[in-house]
Amino acid sequence: MTSQSDRTRLIAAATRRGRGRRPVNPPIERGSTLLNDSAALMREPGPVPVYGIEDLGAASALRAALSDLEGASWTGLVPSGLAAVTVPITALTRPGDEVLTTDAVYGPSRRFLTRHMTARGVSTRFHEAGASTEAVIAALTDRTRVLLIESPASLTFEIQDVAALAAACRARGVLTVMDNTWAAGLAFRPLAHGVDVSVQAVTKYVAGHSDLLMGSIAVTDPVVGRPIAETLEDLGWRVSPDDAWLALRGLRTLPLRYGEQGRSALQVAEWLQARPEVLDVLYPPLPGSVGHDLWRRDYDGAASILGVVLNGGSLTAADALLDSLTLFGLGFSWGGFESLITHETSQLAHRLNPPTLAGPLIRLHIGLEDPDDLIADLERGFATWRAEQV
Ligand SMILES: *Cc1c(COP(=O)(O)O)cnc(C)c1O
Repeated sequence: MTSQSDRTRLIAAATRRGRGRRPVNPPIERGSTLLNDSAALMREPGPVPVYGIEDLGAASALRAALSDLEGASWTGLVPSGLAAVTVPITALTRPGDEVLTTDAVYGPSRRFLTRHMTARGVSTRFHEAGASTEAVIAALTDRTRVLLIESPASLTFEIQDVAALAAACRARGVLTVMDNTWAAGLAFRPLAHGVDVSVQAVTKYVAGHSDLLMGSIAVTDPVVGRPIAETLEDLGWRVSPDDAWLALRGLRTLPLRYGEQGRSALQVAEWLQARPEVLDVLYPPLPGSVGHDLWRRDYDGAASILGVVLNGGSLTAADALLDSLTLFGLGFSWGGFESLITHETSQLAHRLNPPTLAGPLIRLHIGLEDPDDLIADLERGFATWRAEQV
């Protein structure tokens, strides 16, 4: 059979024959205790787990579908996207090791590294957010055990040559873990580019409806996967069957939502770029923007999240802009069906080298609304913003 597109495979997995007459979707099996028919059967290993901390129907269907999407031999599920970063790093490092990552890494990942891991003898070095491939490789030391890649990175969306980094790390015996939330396991396949561990916040695009928290950890090499699976087991982390079921539902429509939201985001980004109120749009899919060439080389699609540097103006004016919008919810997170807007400037202060921006940094997440309506809302917002300038 010729290889089918993601759209087709993610749906065809639900209708596969040979599994008896049944509903299209797996049952939500809520169970801590699982009952057996006899004492002897209690000792028998079988396809059904003996206790509810192991996967029941929806979680195992979700793991199989994510493995298919990521090109993985094993995918584990954890209760948040943050845990998808923390579990592999915990599993793959020992006291005395060092982790290297970008100064633009997702804030809670940074906090985990600098607080939790430092206290356990694993130190972290940060490379410049916009560092070249050569500069990142030069920052590896004899003690570096893991390179944590996040590309495009949080808030400022610097994009990296992931294949080149993965190859250089492999040659030096350094493991690579990539936070691929931006590409949703869809627009970029870290494992196919030589990355050892591909993680994402399922919370964002896979779930897609802003109603659950979950993370996934995907690997190809069982030698890398085993300590991660054991760490999951040791820490006792599993996801709820209800959440797994919702994430599986989200996954069926992921390619359509991701594609549509990416197209809308590009339309909004182009409109913003031409506005006098905007100094800069941080969005690699936008032609002419930083990282655009690498994005075009490596990505099949675009996330719908934009950094926008306002053309000066006070924080009060930026607040007035955010407050005046009627279609953008004021909320953190992204990847859901709804448009959102947040402030970001204060989060940049946690970096070793915060970028110097000439105006406040805001972040837009573009949802499934009609982009023309979103643009009209932003146009009204900018009128309010201008009226606040003195
Ligand atoms: C949101 C996010 C996470 C964490 O996901 P949660 O489910 O909220 O813990 C991790 N990495 C990136 C890049 C994110 O944007």
